[in-house]
Amino acid sequence: MGRPQDPVNTPMKIPFVDLQGQYRAIADEVRAAIEPVMANTRFILGEEVRLFEQEFAAFCGARHCVGVASGTDALHLALRALDIGPGDEVITQTNSYIATALAISYAGATPVFVDCDPKTCQIDVKQAEAVVTPRTKALLPVHLYGQPADMDAVQAIAKRHGLRVIEDACQAHGATYRGRPVGTFGDAAAFSFYPGKNLGAYGDGGAITTNDPALDTRLRAYRDYGQREKYFHDFKGFNSRLDTIQAAILRVKLKRLAAWNQSRQRAAATYSKVLSRIGIEPPRQVSHGTHIWHLYVIQVANRAVVQKRLGDAGVSTGIHYPVPIHLQKAYADLGRLRGSFPIAEAAADRILSLPMFPEITDEQVNHVASELAKAL
Ligand SMILES: *Cc1c(COP(=O)(O)O)cnc(C)c1O
Repeated sequence: MGRPQDPVNTPMKIPFVDLQGQYRAIADEVRAAIEPVMANTRFILGEEVRLFEQEFAAFCGARHCVGVASGTDALHLALRALDIGPGDEVITQTNSYIATALAISYAGATPVFVDCDPKTCQIDVKQAEAVVTPRTKALLPVHLYGQPADMDAVQAIAKRHGLRVIEDACQAHGATYRGRPVGTFGDAAAFSFYPGKNLGAYGDGGAITTNDPALDTRLRAYRDYGQREKYFHDFKGFNSRLDTIQAAILRVKLKRLAAWNQSRQRAAATYSKVLSRIGIEPPRQVSHGTHIWHLYVIQVANRAVVQKRLGDAGVSTGIHYPVPIHLQKAYADLGRLRGSFPIAEAAADRILSLPMFPEITDEQVNHVASELAKAL
């Protein structure tokens, strides 16, 4: 193979996320964790699930954690276990991943969308209160991109109107609000362990955290065909369990999550410093919160051109998300037309997610910034 390539002539390729780099760093430990599960064959609700649930509850400062099959299921089962269903309305933001709304639909309830704050993209709490009706049962704020929603305001609205609160924490493992981790501000919180999330499994996975022991008991039955004990079914539950193998992997990764989040914070600080220098406004951070940078999202005019030029220069980017949920065909039945939520609609055309993962180096961040300056 001869001499190493001349770095001057090799364009630096920067992935959007780098799961392979992370795997190389922990491969031995992951294999050692999986091996006993293969040998003891307790693939469903084995010991590692119970241990991971305890450890993740402790990480979030929550009393209980119930492992399920995905983040979407975590939201869906939390709504079900809180008795939210047909005829009920659940208020959430239109600028989220569609799973937030789908979970409400799966429960048989109706999602009621609101707009977002133009700077932070977090749920517009004033609008959320304005759309409360006698049918409203719950608020479902999303800790979008890795920073917390305005939970003081959310909790105050819930209290005034007697509503439940379910946190969509699928992008916010370890983010804090007023010094406390997300996951305990609502009646329940949903986490996703989709591979690309800050805590990702090697497949699908999710969890619900709660401080309510009765809800914990109901959720354990809900994920397991509604059974109270084997073959005794009190209600029509679901098959939605976190695999033992995934729990074993997640236990290895959870030990590193705080350090990985810190690495993301360091990378974000570097991004924000160099982007300011080239005249790009860094993402606005909420007050009273820590951002764990699941995504580093800037806003640019001419997004399509900028994204194409970055791609041609070897820099992979993403858009989270190009179409607000109320404008998705899947939700055309709700009849919310373009213009209903102008802030989220305008943001959808301008947002651009830059490469972000714990292993990203300062050199890579600087390179993204200089390619971005050129692309603009
Ligand atoms: C990833 C995600 C979900 C869904 O999680 P899955 O594990 O993919 O089902 C829900 N809401 C938000 C905000 C997400 O980012």
